[in-house]
Amino acid sequence: MSGRLTIIGRLTIVGLGPGDDRYITPEAREALEAAEALYGYGPYLDRVPKRNGQARNPSGNRVEGTRAQAALRHAENGVHVAMVSGGDPGVFAMAAAVCGEIELGPEAWRALEISVVPGITAMLAVAARAGAPLGHDFCAISLSDNLKPWKLIERRLDAAASGGFVIAFYNPISKARPWQLGQAFTRLGRHLAPDTPVVFGRAVGRPDETMIITTLDEAGDTPADMATLVIVGSPETRVIARSGKAPLVYTPREAAVVSA
Ligand code: SAH
Repeated sequence: MSGRLTIIGRLTIVGLGPGDDRYITPEAREALEAAEALYGYGPYLDRVPKRNGQARNPSGNRVEGTRAQAALRHAENGVHVAMVSGGDPGVFAMAAAVCGEIELGPEAWRALEISVVPGITAMLAVAARAGAPLGHDFCAISLSDNLKPWKLIERRLDAAASGGFVIAFYNPISKARPWQLGQAFTRLGRHLAPDTPVVFGRAVGRPDETMIITTLDEAGDTPADMATLVIVGSPETRVIARSGKAPLVYTPREAAVVSA
């Protein structure tokens, strides 16, 4: 025994949910309060209540690797660090970026206490607003071709649609990626009927939330941006019209249609 106390650093990766503070879990709240330093994309950090003595390190949207490294280096000094993510940190977000840096980084990073605190992902928040579109088998695809080739996305679109999955699109469109969403709808049209229900949920849980229910043949003309999550139904998905109320979109628990 050297008599010296070694304090093991901690990195907790915390999901904040899609926007409404009521979607932040008690576990996430506790983790945020316990942290000595916070890291994350600026607008997400802004959603965390300020606490005296807690250092804040906001960063830009596109620097996930650098942000993860900075947080890990900070934790390495025996500090309790929290990294925040919108929605769930494991869904197209920081938890995988942190794991990637740990795998490639120094041995000391493997000794850190790492924990991931789940959050409500955008897909679940949008689905809940629409009814139950994810009631049967579904999958999630990021339409961003920054980190993977477009050809691979097309292959996955074909596989998902021909397999009868409901599909949730994250990162549907951005200024730098204006055509991908339209192209994805066209591609899905090879497998799915024009009247397949499509849900657009924008900024769900925030004051400017909007929900649009449309069909695959009209979806290309529906506005979307980076704050939008799109759910494309399967051949089983149905829309229940209701007088004076928003329709209910749902996918029944049982499946009968066998896609070609
Ligand atoms: N980790 C996040 C997803 C990050 S990818 C999560 O689990 O939700 C970013 C994408 O998530 C956006 O382009 C959008 O498609 C979706 N998104 C995030 N917040 C949203 C919200 N409040 N409403 C609708 N979509 C949202």
